[in-house]
Amino acid sequence: MLTTRKTFLPFALPSISEDAIEEVAQVLRSGWVTSGPKVKQFEMEFADFVNAPIAIAVNSATAGLHLALEAIGLTDADAVITSSITFTATTEVICYFHAEPILTDVDPINNLLTPKTLQETIDRFCIWNGKALISKATAKQVRAVMPVHLAGFTCDMEGIMEIARKYKLIVIEDAAHAFPAVHKNQMIGNWGDYTVFSFYATKGITTGEGGMITTKHQSAAERIRKMRLHGINRDAFNRPGWYYEVVEAGFKYNMTDIQAALGVVQLKESHLFWERRTQIAKHYLEEFKDLKGIKLPCDDADGQHSWHLFRIEIDPTVAKMGRDTLVEELKEINIGTSLHFIPIFEHPYYKKNFQFEKSAFPNANEMYNKTLSLPLFAGMSSQDENDVINAVKELLGEGD
Ligand SMILES: *Cc1c(COP(=O)(O)O)cnc(C)c1O
Repeated sequence: MLTTRKTFLPFALPSISEDAIEEVAQVLRSGWVTSGPKVKQFEMEFADFVNAPIAIAVNSATAGLHLALEAIGLTDADAVITSSITFTATTEVICYFHAEPILTDVDPINNLLTPKTLQETIDRFCIWNGKALISKATAKQVRAVMPVHLAGFTCDMEGIMEIARKYKLIVIEDAAHAFPAVHKNQMIGNWGDYTVFSFYATKGITTGEGGMITTKHQSAAERIRKMRLHGINRDAFNRPGWYYEVVEAGFKYNMTDIQAALGVVQLKESHLFWERRTQIAKHYLEEFKDLKGIKLPCDDADGQHSWHLFRIEIDPTVAKMGRDTLVEELKEINIGTSLHFIPIFEHPYYKKNFQFEKSAFPNANEMYNKTLSLPLFAGMSSQDENDVINAVKELLGEGD
């Protein structure tokens, strides 16, 4: 029997411990509330955690992606390839430069940009002139590829980087979902040229709003540090204390110590968060395995899934109900869901400004009709977990 929950269960909620609250309170009492020692500490500890040489904290992943593209000197004569299944943050930053976003289709299982979908996109929409990869539509030069580790399942980084090397593309990973995630014994954070993490409220760890860029490129890192705070050059040695130089028209993308204090504690607790999410995900996989018409996510056999999201697909020709009905029925009994993501080419802005052919993205289209994300976050109680399991089994199961 379906029972309605007393309280609404959202698809994600942050877990904030008393330790985290105390750490933030200490910063508030200290009088130093903007970028200072806590940001430095968070950067060092985060770099250590993901094994990256350099980590730079910013006020969102969107800012981080923007700064990474800025650091490679992207211009309006350039293009960038990314996945059609992502949040608009990944593609909007390309548009900031009036560069061309080129979208790939995704694989039918994990809905990722893969070496295969990347190569197909290159073959269909680009020309290699022996020196550079050129967009057929606009004659712009493809400078970078931005893989997205959707849901926390890691992209095939070895395969993607091999193609990137062949076509001289810079690799900027959108790792908003991929903390903590491992691909082939190497943490996400030191694979590509730049990796960008999000600490938005619903992500693996949170600072309220926040992001982190990791890279091994020293001079680009200096540029990013400069551009995240007004283009101010901080290396004016032997000058009076009041002296600083503005050397670029930079941005206001710095993280505050209030955010970093939360981040430092969240980072310490991240393994426990991950273990709990993994436990819930494995429980879902076990309980749902015999349901008809439901496609379950797979664990990352090659690495470590961050289990940021638990995305399922409903095949309306086999399942007892379609995706939209299931979403409504779950909402009716106070269980929230979400959808990751509406394909980029479906949004009015991208339709108006670019000529994406819907037919170039068969797997993305297919996924969009079938997918939903079930609640998955560390703070879920076993009652929450069982409510989701019972509801989904009741709605999609045999019998009645
Ligand atoms: C959340 C998210 C972002 C943006 O992160 P912010 O920190 O909110 O800017 C980027 N890409 C993906 C895939 C996301 O889910």
